[in-house]
Amino acid sequence: MTVFICNDISIDNMKSHQHFSLKKNNSFAVAATTPVIYYPKNEKELQSLSEITEHEFYILGEGSNTLFVEDKAPVMIKPEFLGIRVEESNHFYDVHVASGENWHSLVCFCIEQGINGLENLALIPGSVGAAPVQNIGAYGVEIADFIESVTWFCFQTNKSVLLSKAQCEFDYRASIFKKSLKNKGIITYVTLRFPKNWQAELSYKGLSCLPKNSKAIDIMDTVIGIRNSKLPDPKLIPNAGSFFKNPLVSPDKFSLMKAAYPKIPYYPQEDGSIKLAAGWLIEVSGLKGYQMNGASVHDQQALVLTNSNAASGASIKKLAEYVQRIVCDRFEISLQPEVRMIAEHGEITLGDLS
Ligand SMILES: Cc1cc2nc3c(=O)[nH]c(=O)nc-3n(C[C@H](O)[C@H](O)[C@H](O)COP(=O)(O)OP(=O)(O)OC[C@H]3O[C@@H](n4cnc5c(N)ncnc54)[C@H](O)[C@@H]3O)c2cc1C
Repeated sequence: MTVFICNDISIDNMKSHQHFSLKKNNSFAVAATTPVIYYPKNEKELQSLSEITEHEFYILGEGSNTLFVEDKAPVMIKPEFLGIRVEESNHFYDVHVASGENWHSLVCFCIEQGINGLENLALIPGSVGAAPVQNIGAYGVEIADFIESVTWFCFQTNKSVLLSKAQCEFDYRASIFKKSLKNKGIITYVTLRFPKNWQAELSYKGLSCLPKNSKAIDIMDTVIGIRNSKLPDPKLIPNAGSFFKNPLVSPDKFSLMKAAYPKIPYYPQEDGSIKLAAGWLIEVSGLKGYQMNGASVHDQQALVLTNSNAASGASIKKLAEYVQRIVCDRFEISLQPEVRMIAEHGEITLGDLS
């Protein structure tokens, strides 16, 4: 029997590593070391972590939305819950999937089984467990469109609870898991519901040229083609996709912007606010291709910051702060990061530790 010891707490049988380099566990490929990483694979193993979770820790999926900003990182919990189960009823497919599964593999699995709906969300990196956290979205579709429930293990009660879609409080790149439930528990399973009378979502730029009767697999292939041509592959140029969220502005602010920049791209929202393209704001600020200490604003996609030359996490954060400042000086809009920034003692935001 293997027993791992950490801070006088022994965790029987659970896979873990001490003094572990996270360089291969984050898509920015920055070097950071955690004192210990645990890989719980079932509820019993999560229960044994209750004392660990009274101290600083971070839940790590595949690290594709995470920037380690210091050489040291907190204790990591990386869930390795695995498995996919499909239930079919007259009108729906319900897919129950464990949080440690890879998101894109789930999309491919569903399409292969004739379960349509996730095709627009193909090739988004990361784990299934992280997907509801920021309500991943692309090409006019969000995971929230399909969530039936989320099973969430609470560290305080040491029990699992089933949260309905409404209880998850999904919003644009947001959910309850980023707010009041942040660091209080772990998503262990997600249940997605797909109506059998599937309708393709082709309204988004890039997909609108496809025929209305396109098959889901053709939409998925188109999405993969567009993503491969537009976004830098993190394996070649380390990055975490969009670094900033697209900002929402009031109609008054938008009128001023539109008068000054008639060609500004914009997306009216149901609540009356207007979503602007953060990448456009960065590009018009003259920052496309800008480089600083090994970190760069990508020269094709200004919304993507990259680790172009062995940058530290701190350097990438400094570049993000610079971008935020320049855009704010020019447009009086404060870009907010989508990427989670993790220091030795927990999560921080831009401006902290500077
Ligand atoms: C090239 C590229 C393209 C991208 N494109 C998109 C896109 O189109 N749309 C989009 O929305 N995102 C996109 N992203 C961002 C990223 O893919 C998503 O945010 C993804 O869901 C992150 O998954 P992860 O497992 O890597 O999360 P991590 O970075 O490991 O974690 C992200 C957050 O989720 C939390 N978390 C992880 N697992 C769990 C769990 N089981 N329970 C509770 N909390 C958990 C973490 O604590 C952290 O706060 C892109 C990233 C890259 C690198």
